[in-house]
Amino acid sequence: MAEKRDYYEVLGVEKSASASEIKKAYYKLAKKYHPDVNPGDAEAEKKFKEINEAYAVLSDEDKKAKYDQFGHAAFENGGAGGGYGAGFEGFGDFGDIFSSFFGGSGGFGGFGGGGGNRRNAPARGEDIYARITLSFEEAVRGCKKDITFGRVQKCEDCSGSGAKKGSSVETCKKCGGSGQMRVQQRTMFGVMQTVRDCDECRGKGKIIKEPCTNCRGTGYVKVSKTFSVTIPAGIDNGQNISISGMGNEGRNGGPAGDLIIAVSVKPHAVFEREGTDIYCEVPINYWEAVLGDEIEIPTLDGKEKFTVPEGTQTGTTFTLKGKGITRVNSSYRGNLYITVKVDVPKNLNAKQKELLHQLAESYGDKVKSKRESFFKKFTDLFK
Ligand SMILES: [Zn+2]
Ligand SMILES: [Zn+2]
Repeated sequence: MAEKRDYYEVLGVEKSASASEIKKAYYKLAKKYHPDVNPGDAEAEKKFKEINEAYAVLSDEDKKAKYDQFGHAAFENGGAGGGYGAGFEGFGDFGDIFSSFFGGSGGFGGFGGGGGNRRNAPARGEDIYARITLSFEEAVRGCKKDITFGRVQKCEDCSGSGAKKGSSVETCKKCGGSGQMRVQQRTMFGVMQTVRDCDECRGKGKIIKEPCTNCRGTGYVKVSKTFSVTIPAGIDNGQNISISGMGNEGRNGGPAGDLIIAVSVKPHAVFEREGTDIYCEVPINYWEAVLGDEIEIPTLDGKEKFTVPEGTQTGTTFTLKGKGITRVNSSYRGNLYITVKVDVPKNLNAKQKELLHQLAESYGDKVKSKRESFFKKFTDLFK
């Protein structure tokens, strides 16, 4: 659907325009673009519809307030838009525009009351929103998950007709199946014709004498549906998966909506994720840090051996390229960042303490002199 123009812009008035200014602007444009004045001009017809739609909203205090607040979104899903197109084809007489001003059938009835065509027209089914929670591993590797949701679809008992098995749907005799009636009205401008929803079938064009008990004659039921969703490897928390055509079934042959699944991923005990990169802290003993050692580290592919080089400081981060998460629908893989934290041992026994004292003594003044130079920098600050 094309982007809808702003209703004020359509009528060429300011947002602050008064009701009478809006009416005047509408009157002028309606006269200019009326189909009777522009026979066979599709562009004028489109304009005329647009003007009528804008006026139907801006001339109604309630609808105008909603529109000012929410814009066109206020009337999505058929709110106010119902039946502008339906109404005007019945205007055999230019005077109808006046009838809408001067009462006639009450306000704007001639234009707005329609809706008949719209009710019979194909309409896309609504989207269905669902949520799924995955473990860290499921998100990283991808998986299949069953998801259960309520979906509106054609009633199987009556195949969507709404009529009880064995009975049939009859075409409304009063309107001949169009769902609309032309009504003659006597007004100060003469006899006018307007179009209304047929009162016999309420605009549906069909009469169901014996409604299907399963769907109560609507032709649609809400069913609980379970669907197996394929989750692509690499999906992240906050991303959506959209499954086209799995939303509510369309009406009157319209397409189905989509099933939109919001994905939540549970945090992992060890790994932290940022996009396709993962971060992990690994504790090491201080002698491993001092002497260097081969240690075991966790990776997405399981435990792996990793060599900590001699003299590794606590907090050092090592990058393991390509050991991160695979990007969705791509062969690119992020990195794994391992940060080592030196664990200082507590509760040493007498023997261990003795050994450490020996070690300390063996250093002599080496550590001391390093600290002295550190404090020298510190005192320099205060000179
Ligand atoms: Zn049914
Ligand atoms: Zn009817």
